[in-house]
Amino acid sequence: MAEFPTSARVVIIGGGAVGASALYHLAKAGWTDAVLLEKNELTAGSTWHAAGNVPTFSSSWSIMNMQRYSAQLYRGLGEVVDYPMNYHVTGSVRLGHSAERLREFQRVVGMGRYQGMDLDILGPDDVRSRYPFLETHDLAGALYDPYDGDIDPAQLTQALAKGARALGARIERFCPATGVRREGDEWVVQTPKGDIRCEIVVNAAGYYAREVGKWFGRDVPMMVMSHQYMLFDTIPELAQWTAEVGHKLPLLRDVDSSYYLRQEKMGFNLGPYERNCRAHWVTKDDPFPQDFSFQLFPDDLERLEWYIADAMARVPLLEKAALTKVINGPIPYTPDGNPLIGPMPGVPNAFEACVFTFGICQAGGAGKVLAEWVTEGATEWDMWSCDPRRFTGFEDQDYCVKKGMEVYGHEYAIGFPHHAWPEGRDKKLSVVHERTRALGAVYGAYNGWERALWYARPGDDTSEEGTQTWRREGPWFSAVREECLAVRDAAGILDLPGFSRFRISGAGTVAWLTRQITGKVPAIGRLGLGYFADDKGRIVTEMSISRIAEDEVLLITAATAQSHDRDWLQRHLDPGLTFREETDLWSCQILTGPKSRAILAEVTMADLTKPWLTWQEAKIGGARVLLMRVSFAGELGWEIHSRTEDTASVWEIVMRAGTGHGLRPFGMFALNSLRIEKGYRAWKGDLSTDYTVLQGGLDRFVDWTKPEFRGKAALAAEQQRGVTKRFVSLTAEVGGCDPPYMSTLWHNGDVVGETTSAYWGHRTGACVALGMLRADLAEPGKALEIEVFGTRYPAVVQGDGPIWDPKNERIRA
Ligand SMILES: Cc1cc2nc3c(=O)[nH]c(=O)nc-3n(C[C@H](O)[C@H](O)[C@H](O)COP(=O)(O)OP(=O)(O)OC[C@H]3O[C@@H](n4cnc5c(N)ncnc54)[C@H](O)[C@@H]3O)c2cc1C
Repeated sequence: MAEFPTSARVVIIGGGAVGASALYHLAKAGWTDAVLLEKNELTAGSTWHAAGNVPTFSSSWSIMNMQRYSAQLYRGLGEVVDYPMNYHVTGSVRLGHSAERLREFQRVVGMGRYQGMDLDILGPDDVRSRYPFLETHDLAGALYDPYDGDIDPAQLTQALAKGARALGARIERFCPATGVRREGDEWVVQTPKGDIRCEIVVNAAGYYAREVGKWFGRDVPMMVMSHQYMLFDTIPELAQWTAEVGHKLPLLRDVDSSYYLRQEKMGFNLGPYERNCRAHWVTKDDPFPQDFSFQLFPDDLERLEWYIADAMARVPLLEKAALTKVINGPIPYTPDGNPLIGPMPGVPNAFEACVFTFGICQAGGAGKVLAEWVTEGATEWDMWSCDPRRFTGFEDQDYCVKKGMEVYGHEYAIGFPHHAWPEGRDKKLSVVHERTRALGAVYGAYNGWERALWYARPGDDTSEEGTQTWRREGPWFSAVREECLAVRDAAGILDLPGFSRFRISGAGTVAWLTRQITGKVPAIGRLGLGYFADDKGRIVTEMSISRIAEDEVLLITAATAQSHDRDWLQRHLDPGLTFREETDLWSCQILTGPKSRAILAEVTMADLTKPWLTWQEAKIGGARVLLMRVSFAGELGWEIHSRTEDTASVWEIVMRAGTGHGLRPFGMFALNSLRIEKGYRAWKGDLSTDYTVLQGGLDRFVDWTKPEFRGKAALAAEQQRGVTKRFVSLTAEVGGCDPPYMSTLWHNGDVVGETTSAYWGHRTGACVALGMLRADLAEPGKALEIEVFGTRYPAVVQGDGPIWDPKNERIRA
């Protein structure tokens, strides 16, 4: 037997499907000096008892990418590693009870087609021809996924492990990691069999991930749910039908009722995601166990009764079957239900690949993504949806439990664009929160900060149900219109707590920043946008840069980017520079519209003739503020940055001054409409690592004269080759719903691009979309089609300039 390894390049903690896939993909990438530690036998965590469903369906582009990749990998894996597996590709039907649900399906069919998959919509009669035992009278239709199926999770894990071992990676079973310590640039992973020195550690510990995270000083945002499925005995009619047709039934998901029903041998497997769900290991009388290997929770059928009855009404054949077994196992959840894959925030050379809710169907893709993070420092697909840095530390255990239960109970719910789930709110409140509430603000959470989405007028419907629609003209619509028009004709104020702020100073700051961004660092007194590219020239992040002094800059970035951008800056910071985070010290009001200068003139002595893209210190009342002459709304305007303790008085003074000028508070929905009309990109929608800086149409933010900046070589090569895709604004005649993220663009029968955001423009009176288009078509006036929920509508390319105020005359006024 080989000796216990005392060193390795990478150590993975956890031998479930995900850890094994990570090891396999690292080894495939040539990183064979890798060791996986498993405290028990492989699969002992959640993997051994998983049902093993492998859908490709997802309404998230990146998660669909991962699941599509998994399904493809699993098809050939047994042969590649010479480990035959039970993998049944049965296809699936996903039932829709409403027109809104069918719109979701149509959207996913469009995304799937773009990813090379042939998903399809079925009418109720077509569903019955695929699934003869089904009650269809109340259905609107269904989605057919021919790639769906089920795999034996233990065999999958063993196959991945075999493949990894064959390439030279090692697996130590019955060998728990018991702690880690940092020595110089190395990690030392402790085990009862000895220490292993390594460069990189991966936490793939499944529902134990929180315990492992603690060794790194990391509070992994997660909780654990109990999830059950029930196995039913052979049903003679089903056995006979299967023998006649020669295949199994497709997997059935009744997503509006919230369960799946799968043919298991000649019986059924029924797995609900129930509303009255149960969390585990969250109270003192139910402590987290040291070891739960190969264990289950006791059956708890009472809470599934409604779902069993519903499934029996849907497939009456099920009534004839005897229940033979219940599996009730632990399944970990993050607050948004997506896993954690990527850099461990704030910890060098440590990664996470854990807290998977659907870790069997995602293991393949997750292993690829994790291996790319480790070996290349970046992933092929933008994976923000799973990036651990999307959580920023405010997510305490109470929040994790409430959100986890909420996600579980609505696992199959439709993700409507204006809807937000109610749990875990009011975590961070602006100092003027009560004042904006009194004015009718309806809020949404941004990195925990409550920001006004829109201001309801007396009688407006502010219910959660009112937002559960794809339709543009929801209850907010006419109020948002009034807000946009007030910004256009007079002025609007938006209370915007939570901007992430980093101050960097010290000799060499500007030289350092010049190498980090693609463009120029602004002169003292000025501000501008800086784009940070990766080595491939892709867009990592965007920050506004205010040059405070010769060697001092203030970087302001999105609330949701707080951990991500801090991490990026600190990882690349030159030694000797001072880095200070000031996120909590400041807050911000956006004052914008043609009357904003007159309003400000009443409250400050500042020089309001200073041009666009300048900043100055000023006083409002007794408070010292920073006035930045910019407007994401695309009108004359200033951001008023004030110390948190001064923000309430600043807000009140400005509001009072505004009364005579038609000042009106506005919210994030209006801001979204206004910025899209201006062609202003939003981070992780329009700006992501799926696109290069040049594809993003950010050429004017690239300073080719600089001797070096990250991504320069790749961008220069791309420029040389010719940029194949281009950012464009479009106007579209799309009926009652605006195109959701990743709606496809068509030209002469070919898919030629995709939307990255879209909204109704109240100033332009048009549906405006931003997106990426094949470069040869990206010319103003080009007629295209845009597919929205399965229907193609006319769209016209507007070029990459703003549709509203193309010459920036209003903003420069
Ligand atoms: C009833 C049920 C049905 C499910 N059905 C499906 C399904 O149909 N499709 C699907 O995609 N998903 C399904 N899931 C979810 C799926 O089981 C999990 O998402 C998946 O197994 C997670 O895999 P993992 O490798 O991340 O974690 P795990 O399988 O939990 O593996 C983590 C491993 O880490 C080990 N470990 C922990 N701490 C240490 C340490 N200190 N040192 C060494 N080793 C350690 C553990 O022993 C464990 O083996 C189901 C879950 C349940 C409960």
